[in-house]
Amino acid sequence: MALSKTALDTDVSVHSTFASRYVRASLPRFRIPESSIPKEAAYQIINDELMLDGNPRLNLASFVTTWMEPECDKLIMASVNKNYVDMDEYPVTTELQNRCVNMIAHLFNAPLGESETAVGVGTVGSSEAIMLAGLAFKRKWQNKRKAEGKPCDQPNIVTGANVQVCWEKFARYFEVELKEVKLREGYYVMDPEKAVEMVDENTICVAAILGSTLNGEFEDVKLLNDLLTKKNKETGWDTPIHVDAASGGFIAPFLYPDLEWDFRLPLVKSINVSGHKYGLVYAGIGWVIWRSKEDLPEELIFHINYLGADQPTFTLNFSKGSSQVIAQYYELIRLGYEGYKNVMENCRDNMLVLKEGLELTGRFDIISKDIGVPLVAFSLKDSSTHNEFEVSDMLRRFGWIVPAYTMPPDAQHITVLRVVIREDFSRTLAERLVKDIQKVIHELETVPCKVCARISISGDGDNEQHGAVVVKKTALETQREITTIWRKFVMEKKKMNGVC
Ligand SMILES: *Cc1c(COP(=O)(O)O)cnc(C)c1O
Repeated sequence: MALSKTALDTDVSVHSTFASRYVRASLPRFRIPESSIPKEAAYQIINDELMLDGNPRLNLASFVTTWMEPECDKLIMASVNKNYVDMDEYPVTTELQNRCVNMIAHLFNAPLGESETAVGVGTVGSSEAIMLAGLAFKRKWQNKRKAEGKPCDQPNIVTGANVQVCWEKFARYFEVELKEVKLREGYYVMDPEKAVEMVDENTICVAAILGSTLNGEFEDVKLLNDLLTKKNKETGWDTPIHVDAASGGFIAPFLYPDLEWDFRLPLVKSINVSGHKYGLVYAGIGWVIWRSKEDLPEELIFHINYLGADQPTFTLNFSKGSSQVIAQYYELIRLGYEGYKNVMENCRDNMLVLKEGLELTGRFDIISKDIGVPLVAFSLKDSSTHNEFEVSDMLRRFGWIVPAYTMPPDAQHITVLRVVIREDFSRTLAERLVKDIQKVIHELETVPCKVCARISISGDGDNEQHGAVVVKKTALETQREITTIWRKFVMEKKKMNGVC
């Protein structure tokens, strides 16, 4: 991140053992070195340092693709030097992005005539896609309010409290109030009835999520559409719906083709999806599709006269690589509907293996649903002595990266662990993970809890003198303190950011 801090206690130099065969002096850490070094040395130094990053394939915290076929890797490497924005110079790349937009629009049942082309763009990810969709809604609403001679300075969006952080970013950057429907214990997605109740004349859209980041659950977009249609009729408003299908957009069409969540519902005006999640492409690609031209205000589109050709663009940034667009096109034609369906079915089957394995341990409540994004979100049934943060931390020892986090309001007292099942997470790995979780639980139960001991020592001077550890607090009090300590510990280590 650009706002990096220079930690005072870190070494100001970078050393590399093997690189000393090439360079004898160490490199300054935070300043550009005075002189050059051989390319082999630069490679060795960086490669050695990167060894301490986690293994992406074992990063079960992320939806983002960590494996692609070598043929696609080749295409990616062959196009890393192409700037996507040079559409005139790389017309074929532009054409491939347009094909992707159309394929995805059809997948989402956009009402397109035979010769009509879809309206949409490739983005860096769903975050950029959501910014663009949000801007279109805001501008459309403003135009309408202005035409009616009504104030247009208090726009809001209605979402569930489970929205991904990019919605909060959109709200803050583009000055739109985010009205969040609170969650409750046992119900971790936006309640459509409550959402529609919150809609007012200043609501630019209701954002529904197809695949909640927290537990993978699909929100009921159809019910939302029906309730909102009724409210629109009663009030004369025409509040639209956006579907944030970042993770679910490439799941639902293949696993649940009859589920109506997309442009089949009249109020759904735009949809975003992350190509780099279940679109099966490495990080750096997302898509936003609009229902029709009318849903994207013309004044947001920039017509660049680039070397004599008109290039309409609607993005937040200018230059970027072409590889991800090409890789998305590769996946779409390589897999086809059949291939995506197979991959998603595999993911779902492996999710069930993991879920059933966890249920068999008898220790966990499953918070995710069978229908949804293939992930398993689970909580300890009994967290009186050990909590989910400890399980997460202990799993690191086995190489697994499994995040633990608390739910948003009003379910913040619930902590969950989440394992995302990606294409490269095999059944064997699922079985292995269950075994390792069992080991962790066993260890947590048999090894004395060190955090407990510390709390009771520091909490009771007398006992400390005698060297004895007597827990005088109630189990509940102790557990609260442990949870607080762990949360602090986890927040400090920014592990919460692992949920993306
Ligand atoms: C991942 C995710 C996002 C953000 O998408 P990026 O592609 O990472 O920018 C937004 N919404 C939901 C529901 C997500 O799961």
